[in-house]
Amino acid sequence: MFQYLLFDLDNTLYSSRHGLEDNVRCRIREFSAAFLGISPNEAWRQRMALAGKYGTNLEWLIGEKGFTDVDAYFAAVHPPNEADSLPADPELRACLAGLPVSKAILTNSPREHADRILSRLGIADLFTHIFDIRQSGYRGKPLPEVFNRALDILGVKARDVLFIDDSPFYVEGFIALGGSGLLMDENNAHGDYPGPRIRKLKELSRYIS
Ligand SMILES: [Mg+2]
Repeated sequence: MFQYLLFDLDNTLYSSRHGLEDNVRCRIREFSAAFLGISPNEAWRQRMALAGKYGTNLEWLIGEKGFTDVDAYFAAVHPPNEADSLPADPELRACLAGLPVSKAILTNSPREHADRILSRLGIADLFTHIFDIRQSGYRGKPLPEVFNRALDILGVKARDVLFIDDSPFYVEGFIALGGSGLLMDENNAHGDYPGPRIRKLKELSRYIS
């Protein structure tokens, strides 16, 4: 039995069909393009060329482009109304509440974004901890130090935790530390992924007994 379930936030605790993360990516491209003085498509091309080195766009801007104004970045990428279209999800709440394991969130987004999402979904009280990108010095998944920091605070070992994320890159990062990983693959986009996959969170119960 796992001691903790560690969840990603975006496109894991809510469906990608709501388009929230697509909108975030669009704002990321536009912000990066304006900062660099190039087109959004070119900014994204450059960022994705180093996707294996940087888990987030922000880390890429800081590490490669001399960017420093993190607060301006988050204000532009995560406006206050960013989650207004997300509906409450009482089924998700019942599903999570029925799992007899402690739960926490590890997100590469800032805390204010997580708070908006969890408030809209009506599940904020179900998690003991929310680990955001500020707490880890703007460094994100899949860096080992980011996972290890969360594990240390939770007081558990990687082997005692099931990590659930919609990014194969991040799930593989946690498995490499000795943990168990589960890929949220809502749209069956990763048929070649070798490990366990689920398409809905209600399938989670199969993996924690
Ligand atoms: Mg995600």
